[in-house]
Amino acid sequence: MAKSAEVKLAVFGRAGVGKSALVVRFLTKRFIWEYDPTLESTYRHQANIDDEVVSMEILDTAGQEDMLQREGHMRWGDGFVIVYDITDRGSFEDVAPLKSLLEEVKKPKNVTLVLVGNKADLEHARQVSTEEGERLAAELSCAFYECSACTGEGCVSEPFHELCREVRRRAVQG
Ligand code: GDP
Ligand code: MG
Repeated sequence: MAKSAEVKLAVFGRAGVGKSALVVRFLTKRFIWEYDPTLESTYRHQANIDDEVVSMEILDTAGQEDMLQREGHMRWGDGFVIVYDITDRGSFEDVAPLKSLLEEVKKPKNVTLVLVGNKADLEHARQVSTEEGERLAAELSCAFYECSACTGEGCVSEPFHELCREVRRRAVQG
């Protein structure tokens, strides 16, 4: 019988960066234009990753919760997707403080995360270069992806799968 694992993932980032769009694209391969930006949802999803059946619980945060709720989400999660919008420099500047808060909450454990620059289809409106994204990911010691929830380009599944792998690797290491 195949091995199985449960992984809790939470998606963070400024409101409007496309967290809901990315999660729904990953789960349904579809793009839906509008979501209630105040809505927080949890989804369940199963995938076969490296011969392991991984059951994911994915929390799509609203990005406007208060500090107490946010810290609760951080305590809940095993791994984190931090999303920014390549056309919104402010959302990129939110990333490092989010990582710091994660470290604070998860102490003394290491934080497992991936960084995603979304809306890569909006090249004409780009404010954050790919190199800046790569540099920040190197500083945060995490994997980096640029993608578009809209077109599905840049492998929208890959950040979630890689995050699961990383969570599993660290669980095995203890
Ligand atoms: P959230 O607040 O982070 O959950 O953001 P949403 O998923 O609600 O998306 C905010 C807005 O950005 C919506 O109007 C989406 O249609 C749009 N959006 C999300 N992802 C993309 C993308 O990859 N490309 C483009 N062009 N628009 C996007
Ligand atoms: Mg949302």
